[in-house]
Amino acid sequence: STLPLREMSASSDRKNPHIAFLPSAGMGHLKPFCSLAAALSERGCDVSFITVHPTVSAAESCYVSDFFAAFPRIRRLDFDLVAFDPSGIASTDPFFLRVEAIGRSAHLLPALLAASSPPFSALVIDIFLASTFIPIAAGIGLPSYIQFISSAAMLSLLAYFPTCSVGVSDFDIPGLWRVPKASIPRALHNPSHPFTTQFVENGRILAKASGILVNTFEALEPESLAALNRGKVVPGLPPVIAIGPLQAASLGEGSPLPWLHGQPARSVVYVCFGNRTAMSKEQIRELGIGLEKSGCRFLWVVKSKIVDREDGEVELEGLLGEGYLGRVKDRGLVMKGWVDQEEILRHRTIGGFLSHCGWNSVSEAALHGVPVLGWPRGGDQRANAEVVARSGLGIWVKEWSWEGEEDVVMGEEIGKRVRQLMEDKDLQASVARLKEEAVKAVAENGSSGKGLAEFIGMLKMR
Ligand code: UDP
Ligand code: UDP
Repeated sequence: STLPLREMSASSDRKNPHIAFLPSAGMGHLKPFCSLAAALSERGCDVSFITVHPTVSAAESCYVSDFFAAFPRIRRLDFDLVAFDPSGIASTDPFFLRVEAIGRSAHLLPALLAASSPPFSALVIDIFLASTFIPIAAGIGLPSYIQFISSAAMLSLLAYFPTCSVGVSDFDIPGLWRVPKASIPRALHNPSHPFTTQFVENGRILAKASGILVNTFEALEPESLAALNRGKVVPGLPPVIAIGPLQAASLGEGSPLPWLHGQPARSVVYVCFGNRTAMSKEQIRELGIGLEKSGCRFLWVVKSKIVDREDGEVELEGLLGEGYLGRVKDRGLVMKGWVDQEEILRHRTIGGFLSHCGWNSVSEAALHGVPVLGWPRGGDQRANAEVVARSGLGIWVKEWSWEGEEDVVMGEEIGKRVRQLMEDKDLQASVARLKEEAVKAVAENGSSGKGLAEFIGMLKMR
C-alpha cells in the first residue's frame, strides 16, 4: 500500500531514517533488495541503494536500470571495487567471485557513505556480505541489519552450523527438525571450501546485527520463526523479523505473454529454475520428455548456462532434440532467457510450478497461490523445499538428483509427478489457504506489515 500523504511529509520529517542498501550478486539477491528498498521508500524512508558495476548477469543490469528509473527518489550510490584477482580462489562460480570482490572492497564503504547526506541511520546488507561489512559499519557507528533472502529454515541452519561440533552429518537444529546431510549445501561438506569459511563467518556474525529481516511470513514458517526468536536455535540472536512475502517493486508494465491468454484457467504448469541454476543437456532432454508425457500444458524456461549472457548462444532445437518443439507446439511454450516470472505466476492460467525452490520463487508461489513441485538443485534449495512440503505449498520428491549427482531423473517419473501436481485437489486447497494468509500477513495490520513498521520504528529511535 502506498501512502502518498506520508510520502509528502517525508522530506520534512527530520526523524526520517536514511537507509543504505547493499545487495549481493545475482537476481535472487538483487530483486528482494529492490522490493524492500521500494517498500521503505514508499513508507517515507530515505533510501540509498549501492550498486556495483558491471553486474554479473544481463538480467541484473536491466533490472537495476529499470529500478532507478521507476523510483527517482531512491539515490544511487555507485560502488567502485578495487581490482581483484580471482586466480587464488578455489571457486569458478562468477557469482561467488563477485561476492568475494565486494567483500574485499569493504574498507571503501565509509568514504562512500560519508559523501552522502543526510547521515545514515542503518545499513541493510545481504547475508553473503555480513561478516565483511558489519565490522566496517560498526567502526563508523552505523548499525547493520541483515536482509536474509532465503527461508527462516535456512537462517536456522546458518545460525546453528558454526556451533555444531558434529562436523557434517545429519544433525538436529535445536527447537526444529533433523537436517539430513544430503540437505546441507554441498560445498559445506568440505570444511576448507571457501564457501564454508564464508558461511561459518556469516553464521557467527549474526549476533552482531541489530536485526534480521526475512522474506517469509508466520503461516509459512511458524516453527522456524518461533525457534529463532525464542533463542532455541542459538542464544543471542537479534530480532528476526518476518516481512514477507515481499511484493516486487513495480517497474512499470510487465511483459505480457500472449500465449498464456489462450489457455484454460489453471491448466498450465510453469517450469523455471531461477536465474543461475543450469541443467545438463541430458537432464534438459529428459525434462522435455517428462513435460511431453505429462499431457499437461506447460511454459518452460530452459537454462543451460549459469550466466545468462552465455545462454544467448545456445540453440533450443539442438538442446531439446530435433522435432521436439514441433511435437509440443499445441500445448507447450519453450523459452530461453529472462521472463517476468511474477507476471506469469499471477496469471489465471497457471496451475502449478515446477521449481528449484530458490526462496524468491517459493515466496512468489505462496503470494500468488500456485502449488509447487520442488526439485531442489543445490545450495539452500533443499532447506527451502522442506518448508514447501511442511507448509502445504507443494510436493518435494526427495530422491531427485541434486548438485554433484550425475544421475538423470527420467522423463517418465517427471511426467507422473507433474500430473500429480496438477491434479491434487487437497494441495490446491492448502495452497489457497496459504495465499490468503500471505495476503493477510502483508497488510498493514498483518504480521509482516507490523514487522516492517517495527523495523522503521527501530531506526527512528536512534
Ligand atoms: N526470475 C524471473 N525470470 C526468470 C528467472 C527468474 O523473473 O526467468 C526471478 C524470480 O521471479 C525470482 C528470482 O528471479 O524473483 C530468482 O530468485 P530465486 O530465489 O527463486 O532463485 P535463484 O535464481 O536465486 O536461484
Ligand atoms: N548462505 C548463507 N550464508 C552464507 C552463504 C550462503 O546463509 O554465508 C545461504 C543463502 O541462503 C544462499 C544459500 O546459502 O541463498 C545458497 O547459496 P548459493 O551459493 O546457492 O547462492 P545463491 O544462489 O543464493 O546466490
